[in-house]
Amino acid sequence: MSGFLEARPRVGYYYTGKTDTEELNNQLHKLTVKHYQSIAVVVSESDSVYDAICTMFLEDVGTLFVVDKQSHLAGVLSRKDLLRASLGRQDTEAIPVSIIMTRMPNITVCKKEDLVVYAATKLIERQIDALPVVKDAGGEKYEVVGRVTKTNITKVLVDLANNQLF
Ligand code: ADP
Repeated sequence: MSGFLEARPRVGYYYTGKTDTEELNNQLHKLTVKHYQSIAVVVSESDSVYDAICTMFLEDVGTLFVVDKQSHLAGVLSRKDLLRASLGRQDTEAIPVSIIMTRMPNITVCKKEDLVVYAATKLIERQIDALPVVKDAGGEKYEVVGRVTKTNITKVLVDLANNQLF
């Protein structure tokens, strides 16, 4: 009955008056990115498109984040970015990912204390599959500390159905 009944000293339990929808909304607005994020897979700006494709396969992810020499977020590589770069090109080993990535400051990010609902809204609005979870590194630079993908968001739905929300 969590959310529907509340305890009050000397009164006991009382009905909060919340509807199912209000209570669900309430529960969803308590979930933060840190409870649902995954480990980020990163490559370096100087890595080749070929290396990035191998990493994507080996690490079994759909989005890679690119970092510069100081390990700050520099770019994003999606499956289609890499496919596009390989089409009609022979020498993917000679093309650095920095040429084809979506680069800062055009990257949509989130922080671990953001609501999952905020991250989900960004994924839908921008029509992308993943957001890097970042920490401020000073001077408008970010350190990558995780990733939120559509799969992480789907897990919220599954946990909800199994009454196992974090
Ligand atoms: P795909 O390109 O495989 O359909 P996405 O929909 O995630 O995958 O990516 C679409 C485009 O948006 C790509 O060019 C990618 O580099 C870019 N992109 C992906 N994630 C982000 C992000 N978090 N911020 C900005 N651009 C992104």
